Amino acid sequence: MSDQKISKGTQCIWAGESSSLMQGATQVPVVHSVGFGYKDVDEWQQVALGKKPGHIYGRNTNPTVHAFEQKVRQLENAEGVTSASTGMGIISSTLFALLSPGQRVVSVKDTYGGTNVLFAEFLPKFNIDVMLCETGDHEQIEAEIARGCDLLYLESPTNPTTKVVDIERLSKAGKHVDAIVVVDNTFATPINQHPLELGADLVLHSATKFLGGHADALGGVICGPQNLIDKIYHYREINGATLHPMAAYLLLRGMKTLELRIQQQNRNAMQVAQYLENHAAVEQVFYPGLPSHDGHQIAKQQMEGFGGMLSFMLKENSFDAVRRFVPRLQYAHAAANLGAVETTIGPPATTSHVECTAEERAALGIPESLIRYSAGIENVDDLINDLRQALQPFA
Ligand SMILES: *Cc1c(COP(=O)(O)O)cnc(C)c1O
Repeated sequence: MSDQKISKGTQCIWAGESSSLMQGATQVPVVHSVGFGYKDVDEWQQVALGKKPGHIYGRNTNPTVHAFEQKVRQLENAEGVTSASTGMGIISSTLFALLSPGQRVVSVKDTYGGTNVLFAEFLPKFNIDVMLCETGDHEQIEAEIARGCDLLYLESPTNPTTKVVDIERLSKAGKHVDAIVVVDNTFATPINQHPLELGADLVLHSATKFLGGHADALGGVICGPQNLIDKIYHYREINGATLHPMAAYLLLRGMKTLELRIQQQNRNAMQVAQYLENHAAVEQVFYPGLPSHDGHQIAKQQMEGFGGMLSFMLKENSFDAVRRFVPRLQYAHAAANLGAVETTIGPPATTSHVECTAEERAALGIPESLIRYSAGIENVDDLINDLRQALQPFA
């Protein structure tokens, strides 16, 4: 594909936009129109049947949304792409579009909280069997795939403990039984990791996070072969979880700086992780870039950068310690989102796993004292100084 020849940073800026530019505008406009009119009824029909490019109705496609989708598609070097109003919109559309009663999903315990609810609560209602394996246990995952698997669903690194799975190894096992392999690439982004090149069929993102990067728009996107994308798009067009053109515009604008932001977030997260690992008040740091991390070797192999996400446990292992620590940080929003230009922190109990009970979180191996840290693009010295003063009473 000729898309591949230019670098990622240049793609972030230029890719996908040309067909949505209008009347010489250099920026993709926000097209707020619900309908797209045709005086020529034959042309209208050609577009409606997908035989000619164009737009018919805003729930289906839109020029601003199209530009956003094409930018992500080119960054993931995929054949097809479709989007949804949120990350969960694209994840649920994918699972409900591709699965049928009686089929079996193999996944890991550490998927995003909302995905976990789909696996635990909603798919079983439709008689779809879901097997959730220990996230780092590749032998168990391979054994479960071999027992029968129609869809293998992976996430790496995971939210919030940044566990890593070997995408190439597990994709191979999935392909061996003709499973569709789906990877949530939200934490890594197309700058740091390319699941399609590692053998996955579909790669998806909560665009709400790093792709948009400014915590001001929700969105979801998935890329892969056109035949699978067509099925997902067909279902999403009917369930109605359409990406809004204004959100698409904000995501598109945010993505122009994706490579720059991710490079800085990779550096900041690494330095913060190293600082915390050597701090007397910190029990453990989870960051794939640290040699002490269980998945470091795999991460080194399959990632170009280790990402902006880390988490850590205070030595004082209680939710009360988290309650006292969080408000002490000056340069960190205490909020549920992540991947923004501002550093953002939160415990899983109020963020990724708010949908789960304390017992469910414990079963997933998530300590109540864990703090998720999404490194922003601030000057790293300021971030470390802020952590130093905030941790002082805990040392
Ligand atoms: C946030 C998130 C999602 C869900 O995305 P929304 O846009 O909030 O619906 C899915 N996967 C991961 C890894 C996430 O961080």
